[in-house]
Amino acid sequence: MGKKYTLLLNGKETGREILYELFDKYNKMYFNGELGKCRFYWLISGSTYGKYNFETKKNGKIESRIGMSRNVRWTDETLRDVLVHEMIHMYVTTVEGKHFDGLLGHGRHFRKHMKRLNKTYGMNIMVYNDLELIVDKPKDGLLGKIFIRLFDR
Ligand SMILES: [Zn+2]
Repeated sequence: MGKKYTLLLNGKETGREILYELFDKYNKMYFNGELGKCRFYWLISGSTYGKYNFETKKNGKIESRIGMSRNVRWTDETLRDVLVHEMIHMYVTTVEGKHFDGLLGHGRHFRKHMKRLNKTYGMNIMVYNDLELIVDKPKDGLLGKIFIRLFDR
């Protein structure tokens, strides 16, 4: 049996269930409930916020997986923005059927949704929410550092 990992949300250790709950909620709120099933896994390396992967099965069905970093001091807002960022990738891939959307998947299809959600809901989704970030001290003011790097770009 593997170790049970948690994520730090608003200063509290929270189980993986929260990701499935938020996924369902945001699917209804922001994507008309059109997204199918998704599985979650932890990104342990500490170098990335979130990651979307998909696999096309032999029967043509697409299986989606989203990885979320454990090494971040998440707040409701940052967790939402990164999770919804990954959900946009999933929407573009599985609902709109675009398996290639510009560099790292942040082309015009992605940006269309990013602008829509930022404008309508005051989110702060960025192209670089899921870019590789070098993290030297995972336990020490990590989020602040990441934001400085993000806004520097
Ligand atoms: Zn992305």
